[in-house]
Amino acid sequence: MATPRSRPKKHVNKKPVAIHKLYNGGKTKNQFCPKCGPGFFMANHKNRWTCGKCNYVEFKKD
Ligand SMILES: [Zn+2]
Repeated sequence: MATPRSRPKKHVNKKPVAIHKLYNGGKTKNQFCPKCGPGFFMANHKNRWTCGKCNYVEFKKD
């Protein structure tokens, strides 16, 4: 038994919120490694960021 489509849902273009936040104003939650380039996230430590690939360390300002 088929259900009649009397009111088709309007197509809503959903944006991926997580990715949108990630690139918000260049302020990333997880930083990219400047040496390895975009795609290589740096590990978030208490007072610094570290890259697991090239061992690059960037200290946080706060
Ligand atoms: Zn790196």
